[in-house]
Amino acid sequence: MSGALAAGFVHPARAADLDAIVIGAGVAGFAAASALIGARKNVVVLEARERTGGRVFTNTSLGLPFDEGAPTRPESGAPALVIDGRELSREEYARYARVSAELERTLEKLRTQLPGVDPQVVIQGNDSLEKLAIAELFRRVPFAPFATLPVTEGKVPVRIGTRVMRIDSTGALVRLMTQGGEFTAKVVIVTVPTGVLGGGGLTFAPPLWLERLAAIESLPMVQAAKTFVTFSRRVFDVPDDARLVAWTATGTVIEAQLRPRGQEAALLFYRDGEARRLEADGPMAATAGAVSALAELFGREVRTAFLRGASTRWGKDPFARGAWVDGPPPPRRALAQPHHERVVFAGEATDPVGGVVGANASGLRAAKEALAVLGRG
Ligand SMILES: Cc1cc2nc3c(=O)[nH]c(=O)nc-3n(C[C@H](O)[C@H](O)[C@H](O)COP(=O)(O)OP(=O)(O)OC[C@H]3O[C@@H](n4cnc5c(N)ncnc54)[C@H](O)[C@@H]3O)c2cc1C
Repeated sequence: MSGALAAGFVHPARAADLDAIVIGAGVAGFAAASALIGARKNVVVLEARERTGGRVFTNTSLGLPFDEGAPTRPESGAPALVIDGRELSREEYARYARVSAELERTLEKLRTQLPGVDPQVVIQGNDSLEKLAIAELFRRVPFAPFATLPVTEGKVPVRIGTRVMRIDSTGALVRLMTQGGEFTAKVVIVTVPTGVLGGGGLTFAPPLWLERLAAIESLPMVQAAKTFVTFSRRVFDVPDDARLVAWTATGTVIEAQLRPRGQEAALLFYRDGEARRLEADGPMAATAGAVSALAELFGREVRTAFLRGASTRWGKDPFARGAWVDGPPPPRRALAQPHHERVVFAGEATDPVGGVVGANASGLRAAKEALAVLGRG
């Protein structure tokens, strides 16, 4: 469980007394619930997993903490760039900056002038440096920076291990069918990812309108994965939290954070097809791949000092089905519309900014909408 998003577990009041139910104990759910509690409403958060935090989660199973989802500490600094085991020279960094700026302009032009064309097919590099710049461009994450994670003040009542399966808003109160029985409330805030909504993990009565279904379809989850490997001694002669993007001799791109939080460890990042492959092959293969890739760059020492590894599985997780949404504002706005008045939508995908910042803003927006519904009686 992430410390910043930890919540006191409190048994909800009698179901009939609930003003609001928030589905999902991630950033959006906590923001919404905290705002409603601040407005003196009787609220409970229902969470499917056996933990809170959603896609903000610090795994400590290897003895050292690693953030499986969004980083719980802000990342800074441009990454070091390495090709064939050697960091770029000053002249090469300068050329890389020029190539990257040119690529950004080309990508922008392609996206506006040829929206149906996959830029990854059109943009090709001539040498390793250009190929690395292209790989880095397509791996850039779309998130707004945040200084600290939104922290929930006070006690938010959360019922973990309570997966909501159906939301019925056809009666006087909204009824939720869950693994832990039935709940009713005057208003419900849904914060589950589009991967869950699109995968049929949650059904609605009345059914979702076509506009929302179309929005869900055009906001698919980006696939991303991380592998964390630990070492018995110092193997990287780099500062704490050093970031690296490298093009290896075998033609693969490695994106990593070395010595995260000053620990003798490395965190490797994977996107799209490589993230899917990593999850399909399983954590053992992922760890072996990470160690080989790092050994290619930093030498045999990586193998001899290797201790243990762990990998994320966001794509296979039934309560995420992916890492985040990277889509334009119009479907996000459509997704943010209330469903049948007393069912309000929040979550990163409903916000134009997305990520942690957007999830938090969406929760606050949804709480206001829920208060307006409650005000109408
Ligand atoms: C690998 C990775 C890296 C990331 N990096 C960044 C970054 O650098 N910066 C950034 O801003 N963001 C980043 N993000 C994205 C960020 O983590 C998310 O945008 C944000 O945490 C989403 O919050 P949320 O509350 O909208 O959704 P979630 O955190 O997904 O919360 C939804 C909750 O709903 C629960 N749920 C699902 N289905 C049900 C159900 N049927 N019944 C009950 N509960 C259910 C889930 O278990 C979950 O707890 C990253 C994510 C990943 C995975």
